[in-house]
Formats: sequence, C-alpha cells, structure tokens
Amino acid sequence: MTSKYQALPKGVSEARFDAAIKKFSAALGADQVLTSAEHLRPYTKVMMSVPDARHQPSAVVTATSVEQVQAVVKICNEYKIPVWTISTGRNFGYGSAAPVERGQIVLDLKKMNKIIHIDPELCTALVEPGVTYQQLYDYIEDNKLPLMLSFSAPSAIAGPVGNTMDRGVGYTPYGEHFLMQCGMELVLANGDVLRTGMGGVKGDKAWQVFKWGYGPTLDGMFTQSNYGICTKMGFWLMPKPPVFKPFEIKFDNEADINEIVEMLRPLRIANIIPNAVVIAGTLWEAATCGVRRSDYITEPGATPDSVLAQIRKDKHLGAWNVYCALYGSPEQVEVNWKIVTETIKRAGKGRIVTQEEAGDTQPFKYRAQLMSGVPNLQEFGLYNWRGGGGSMWFAPVSQARGSECDKQYALAKQILNKHGLDYVGEFIVGWRDMHHVIDVLYDRTSEEETKRANACFNELLDEFEKEGYAVYRVNTAFQERVAQSYGPVKRSVERKIKRALDPNGILSPGKSGINI
Ligand SMILES: Cc1cc2nc3c(=O)[nH]c(=O)nc-3n(C[C@H](O)[C@H](O)[C@H](O)COP(=O)(O)OP(=O)(O)OC[C@H]3O[C@@H](n4cnc5c(N)ncnc54)[C@H](O)[C@@H]3O)c2cc1C
Repeated sequence: MTSKYQALPKGVSEARFDAAIKKFSAALGADQVLTSAEHLRPYTKVMMSVPDARHQPSAVVTATSVEQVQAVVKICNEYKIPVWTISTGRNFGYGSAAPVERGQIVLDLKKMNKIIHIDPELCTALVEPGVTYQQLYDYIEDNKLPLMLSFSAPSAIAGPVGNTMDRGVGYTPYGEHFLMQCGMELVLANGDVLRTGMGGVKGDKAWQVFKWGYGPTLDGMFTQSNYGICTKMGFWLMPKPPVFKPFEIKFDNEADINEIVEMLRPLRIANIIPNAVVIAGTLWEAATCGVRRSDYITEPGATPDSVLAQIRKDKHLGAWNVYCALYGSPEQVEVNWKIVTETIKRAGKGRIVTQEEAGDTQPFKYRAQLMSGVPNLQEFGLYNWRGGGGSMWFAPVSQARGSECDKQYALAKQILNKHGLDYVGEFIVGWRDMHHVIDVLYDRTSEEETKRANACFNELLDEFEKEGYAVYRVNTAFQERVAQSYGPVKRSVERKIKRALDPNGILSPGKSGINI
C-alpha cells in the first residue's frame, strides 16, 4: 500500500498519523515537523548491516523548549506514536540518528543548544541537549576559562548529552563520561519534569556538585534506556593542568598485548597515568593517518599479516600503539614521568615517543588533542580503510588483565578474518576494565560483503558470550540481541519499570531491547 509518508509508526493508520502531524505542527510550528524524503534523509543514514528501510523514520520533529518536548510527549500518548530522541544525533556506528524501529518519529533536540551555566571555580557545566563539544570548546576559549573538556573522538560535531546518555567515553582523566555527569532534567512519558540528585529541592545550589541527592539515585536508570527525555544535563569539567605531557609507547609484536596491560594497569589504578589509556592496533593507526587498504592490496577478504607487517614498516607503526598523558604541576609530572619511564625500561620493550619527537605527525597529533580536550575529526579516517560506509562498533568489556585482552584479541581477529574482514581495534583502559572497541568496517555498497559483516557481527556476539563477555553498547540493529546476554531477570525488571513510567510505550520502544 502506498502512503504519502516515508513510513508509518507500527499499528498507526495514515489517517491517524495525519491527525497527529497536524497536532505536532500546531504545537511546534509547521517548520519544526518534517516528513518529506529530502528532509528525512539525514536521519536515515545507518551504517549497519541491515536494510535502511528497517530504521526509516516516519517524521522528524524538533523542539526548542521543555514545554515543546512536553507537548510532543502529550501528542505521542494521544495517538500512540513512538518517539526516538536524539541530541546532536552523531551516534555513528551505533545507529546514527535513525530510530531503532521503522516508523518511529525522531525528536531532534539540536535546537535546544544553550550552555546554561559554566562555573569556572567549581568546574561544572549545565547544558541543553543540542550543545556540541565544539560549542563548549569555543565558549571556554573565548572566555579564557581554565577548564578542559573530555569528549568522544567525533568531538566537534557530537555533544555531551547524547554521548553521556549512551554512556560514551573520552580520553582525558574525565573520560568515563557518565561518572562525571551530575544532575539531569528529564521529561517523563506522562509529561512530568523530573530533576535528579539535588535538582528537586527548591532554591538548591548543589545540583551540579552533589550527585546522589536523597533516597534512590536515579540518573543511571535514564542512560541507555527509554524512561525519559533528557532536557538538561550537568557535568564536571577538569581544571586545565599547568603541564600536559602526552606520549606514545610503540610495541612491535601482537603478542605484547598481555605485557602491556599488566604493565599499565597498576599505573592506571594508582592514577599515575590518570587518563583513559588507549592501546591501538596497527590498522586503526594506519587508517587514521590516511592509509587505505587499496594502497596495499586489491583482493577482497581479510588483509594478510604480511601486509600488516609492511604497513608497520612503511608508516613506522607498532603492532600496538599506546597513548597516555600526564597532567599536573611540573613537579607532579616530573615524578610520574620518572615512574612511567622506569616501568617501561624494566619491561625491556616498548619505544617511547614524546610530543617533541612526534611534532605534528598523525596519528600522534590527534591523540594528543583528544587527551587534552581539543576537538578534531581525524578518526573519521577509519572509514577510508575499506570504503563503502559500513561500520558497526563491537565493544566487549573485560577485566584490565593481560590474559583477558590477549584472549579477546585472538578471538576477535580469528572471527573477523574468517568473514574476510579485518581487526581494526583498540583497547581503552578504564580504571579496572577494558573497553575493547573494534570497528567492524565493511563495504556497505556490496550486498555480499554486507551479508558477511552481518554474519560476522552475530558470530562475534555469540562466541564472546560463550566466553563470558558482553558488549557495553551496541548499534540499534543488535540491541534486542544484546539485551538477551544480560539475562531474563534484568529484562523483566526493565520491563516493569517501563510499564510503570510509560504505559503506552511511546518513548524509544526497543532501545536496549526494552519494550512494554
Ligand atoms: C570515527 C568515530 C569515532 C568514535 N569515537 C567514539 C569515542 O571515542 N567514544 C564514544 O563514546 N563514541 C565514539 N563514537 C561513536 C559516536 O559517534 C559518539 O559516541 C557520539 O558522541 C554519539 O553521538 P552524539 O553525541 O551526537 O549523541 P546522540 O546521537 O545525540 O545520542 C546518542 C543516543 O543517546 C540517546 N539520547 C540522546 N539524547 C537523548 C536525550 N536527550 N534523552 C534521552 N536519550 C537520549 C539516544 O538513544 C541516542 O541514539 C565514534 C564514532 C566514530 C564514527
């Protein structure tokens, strides 16, 4: 059956959708309600190994105030229209700006982009969802504030609210973003406005400085979920240190991963190296400094180890390339530098590269920028490795133990290569955990390669699960599958909460596998 819409919400007739669209237009203004193919195009570009049609939105609505968000929720309840919320909408490799299910409308909050408050003494911020990291960076620079941002690699074009709501990570000592979040404002499915932490206390000034408030602490429940629409978020900023000393340690052998992790873990847990250390594999490094697979090999399939060795040689890359930084006063940095260099010397392997030695070369430059809160888009070079626009992050978590990383690396490489794809990955060292982040890159213009990528992603999930590993976040095509890994009791609790807070199931149904 043809319709004038690109898609319709599940179970909603065209006539009912017409009526809802009229209401949205009356509440928001006609220019804030988009339905044409041309207007919806930016919201349909998924990079996943499934047809675009599965994630086609029926409409996009934008809002400029909390009251408008409340109006959207009211209409959605009345017409039983599911609404998928995005802030800056740059969730590339996790579903981009498209909804989890076909026919959902997208609520795009990019126009709510006020930096409400930055306190340079308490080092806190309160922002609306559309604020980008670039906007914050410019504000901090223009006002010469002694503060440093932490952000995901798409920094300039992404933002703290969306990234934190999806529990994303950055590369400074404040890189675990949800840990640094303090106070949220949320519009609930019934239109109520909830402020978490101290935010509900009239006249309170501690909303952005004390996370826990009183009674149950609710913030976590709203991340990676579909229980509310975040309209304001507070978070902590790091004071800009007098000295920032980035460095790299290159290791020559793939087998070194075990020792690298054992060596770094104590330094990280003791905060001698205080930032989220990255251990990047050869192809990640190569792609982000501009190498394309076709420069070396034209046959399809997994890239042979001999080619990896050649790339290492040509581009002076390690099998593993570790990026860390020291932050603090000159005295603090000097002491910690001594500890770090002595630790590496004792290990008897690993070549240190300092800022002075690296100069302006990539990928050192962009890594140093990410570790010091300077936005850049260099990491998008990953997409040129194979070309064709297919990308799905496979991000299993493990303990920060050498043996675990070794095991995960070998398993991932074997499965990717079996499906004719490459290991393009890095480990990000949390305080005690590893986010093992692998970009499953493939040519989405090839139907055959897309099928292989899909089979590969399923096998990665299945085989890792058998070994007791699960991912911390996943693209929208696999969210239902991953929810199963976490067990039936968790799912049942999530469902009960969903039914209680959102009985019509209008807020992002299907997000993280949660439905009424
Ligand atoms: C090359 C490359 C490198 C990347 N590196 C990183 C990295 O270092 N770290 C990292 O974390 N990610 C990384 N990503 C993934 C992603 O691009 C970032 O996480 C990005 O910050 C997410 O997009 P966003 O900030 O625009 O959030 P959005 O797309 O706006 O939001 C993300 C999700 O959060 C939920 N959400 C958003 N806003 C709200 C709201 N107001 N209320 C309720 N729920 C909401 C929605 O489910 C949405 O899909 C990378 C991607 C690429 C392509």
